[in-house]
Amino acid sequence: MRVTLSAIKADIGGIGGHTRPSDGVLNAVRKTISKSKDLLLDYYIGYAGDDIHIIMSHTKGVNDSNIHKLAWDAFIEGTKVAKEEGLYGAGQDLLKDSFSGNIKGMGPGVAELEFEERPNEAFVVIAADKTEPGAFNLPFYRMFVDTRSNTGLIINPSLAEGVIINVMDVMNGKIASLKMWEDKPELEAALMYPGRYVVSSIYTKNDEPIVASSTDRLHNIAGTYVGKDDPIAIVRCQKSFAATEEVCSAFNDPHFVAGNTRGSHHLPLMPVRLNTSASVNYSIPIVMALIFSMHNGKFTGPIDGFDTPDWDYIRMEATRRALAMRAQGFIHPATLVPEELEYNKGYEERMKKLEKKFK
Ligand SMILES: [Mg+2]
Repeated sequence: MRVTLSAIKADIGGIGGHTRPSDGVLNAVRKTISKSKDLLLDYYIGYAGDDIHIIMSHTKGVNDSNIHKLAWDAFIEGTKVAKEEGLYGAGQDLLKDSFSGNIKGMGPGVAELEFEERPNEAFVVIAADKTEPGAFNLPFYRMFVDTRSNTGLIINPSLAEGVIINVMDVMNGKIASLKMWEDKPELEAALMYPGRYVVSSIYTKNDEPIVASSTDRLHNIAGTYVGKDDPIAIVRCQKSFAATEEVCSAFNDPHFVAGNTRGSHHLPLMPVRLNTSASVNYSIPIVMALIFSMHNGKFTGPIDGFDTPDWDYIRMEATRRALAMRAQGFIHPATLVPEELEYNKGYEERMKKLEKKFK
């Protein structure tokens, strides 16, 4: 059967800062989704730091207005509770007043894939907080291009053929479709700067979808660059795709990503357990892996991809790298490049005063 997976996420308020949603907010979101569960084959609700994710399976296809409205309504109901509780940033990702047919461009992040379900469908939802969609560029590269990271690219016949990687220029919303292996150097040139070029989806050469990643908010709202947003991605695994462990191990060498406190720094992306609060140790960027099996659209799981003891060692390494970077305080590259700080009003004000002093 043809199944659509929709992963829709939003930050609608955190306890005492940008930490995690309250149980009251999560319950309100759950209640709304469960009331309309006849629309869905299955669903799962959890959170990554201050972002709530709603993962749904259904038969309506991508960009379906009923599915998007259901998620929007759930976030609206959650926001009501967040306001009652005085949560920080209550409703902050709901940027429009009323639903207009598609949740894309309204604030929440969306990753969706429609495909013919395999008998043993396996997929991982990767959810991150305190960073930007470009944070997944290097892990996707490790999964689908880098044979040092993924031997499957040599010994799996389908992966060895190469995939098609779609990269968005977040300044204008245009997408380049890059074929492996002939466009590899151009892909690498794009991935070099994750603040501007972001992997949005990945397909096999015969058009089978493998990856969808949320990039929509970056260019869709008011047609202008609005800064960073915490990403969510769906990655199908096993058989002719990357193995589940080839997907998750792409996060085992915590690389530096943009985001963190005030969205203004570079710190390593730390793999954490499911439903972890954001770190208040400078908001070290966090990522989690929700591993599912699916049959007839029904989920088994998720299991927690970053729960085993080896990931404790990697969390320690991420912490070591984070503290080393923050030890140099506000000096770049601990902080972002000026173009990425420029949507930060305080930075703009400082620079305006500074410019007047240059004679
Ligand atoms: Mg967040």
